[in-house]
Amino acid sequence: MSTRTKDYYQQLGVTSSASDEEIKKAYRSLAKKYHPDANPDNPRAGERFKDISEAYTVLSDPDSRRKYDQLRKFGGLGGFQPGTGPMPGSGPEAGRNFRFEDLGGIGDIFSSIFDFGKRTTEERQKGPVRGHDIEYLIEIPFRKAVRGGKVTINVSLSEECATCDGTGAAPGAGSDTCAECQGRGTVTFGQGTFSVPRPCPACMGRGQIPRRACNACGGRGEVSSRRRIAVTVPAGVDDGSRLRIPGQGERGPGGGRPGDLLVKFKVHSDRFFTRDGLDLICEVPINVAQALLGSRIRVRTVDNKKIVLKIPPGTQSGTTFRIKGQGVEKGERTGDQLVRVVVGVPEDLTEEGREAAARLAEAEGLRH
Ligand SMILES: [Zn+2]
Ligand SMILES: [Zn+2]
Repeated sequence: MSTRTKDYYQQLGVTSSASDEEIKKAYRSLAKKYHPDANPDNPRAGERFKDISEAYTVLSDPDSRRKYDQLRKFGGLGGFQPGTGPMPGSGPEAGRNFRFEDLGGIGDIFSSIFDFGKRTTEERQKGPVRGHDIEYLIEIPFRKAVRGGKVTINVSLSEECATCDGTGAAPGAGSDTCAECQGRGTVTFGQGTFSVPRPCPACMGRGQIPRRACNACGGRGEVSSRRRIAVTVPAGVDDGSRLRIPGQGERGPGGGRPGDLLVKFKVHSDRFFTRDGLDLICEVPINVAQALLGSRIRVRTVDNKKIVLKIPPGTQSGTTFRIKGQGVEKGERTGDQLVRVVVGVPEDLTEEGREAAARLAEAEGLRH
């Protein structure tokens, strides 16, 4: 099993925001360069050619590209298929290195991209199926992650059309075998051993062409909708953590159970606080006099309360003070707020100040 990078955009050397024209251009020049006929002595060129073709196949079709983007965004293509167990590696970068082989090869990826929400005739005969899970990334402010709260999200769903049961045909209209693919649902793209099967563009991979298109979905067999969902953010939620909300995924085809909504939290950073487990860390500047003579300073908590913190005389820069109980509350446990003080040394002194500092040095026997 190889672990080649299979990011389609990388394969074509374009960014994910590339236009259709840019993608086409990149593909043409790479295909020319790596075509096996042009590289009889380089077996790797063939591999590369295959990868490029595969990438172009998916990215040149707006619908499949949109789906691919959606899958890629969440760091793993497998995660959208029901029954794949734990969600795949996280982070926006993870999708770049997904292994095609993990998906069982090219056939599966096409089915995961093109048959999203669409079922084959065979599947339809099996009766109700559980709907797909949906992944959704929720960005939340730092404070909301610490204290918890609610966020409302708008989830886009692509679901099997209930009117035509996903066939794309107007009820009772019937359909004909697709002439383009002779009902196979796929056509071959590329040449010889480097050919790649792609879903038939004429019948959108169904193998059948409805005599009259379903009005509800315009013949696509699936409908897009949006659903507003209020999500409860648990207090102390960590960046990157996930939450499963049962039953809020896509509706199950043929009346099956709906899938789940899998939420991933991205916690914004804060200008003042960082987190270390349940503790909240902040940095507060104090001046030389406060450090030398001691002081009382006011420190803001995450709840925007001001708490007085006693700075003892002779405090060193970098000393950390602990304010009990002002950290993250998670279940039974509560963290603290850690205040690190940083002593600022004045860059400019008045003449008077300079003399006073010199006297201080004298009195304390400090070399200067
Ligand atoms: Zn329909
Ligand atoms: Zn066809």
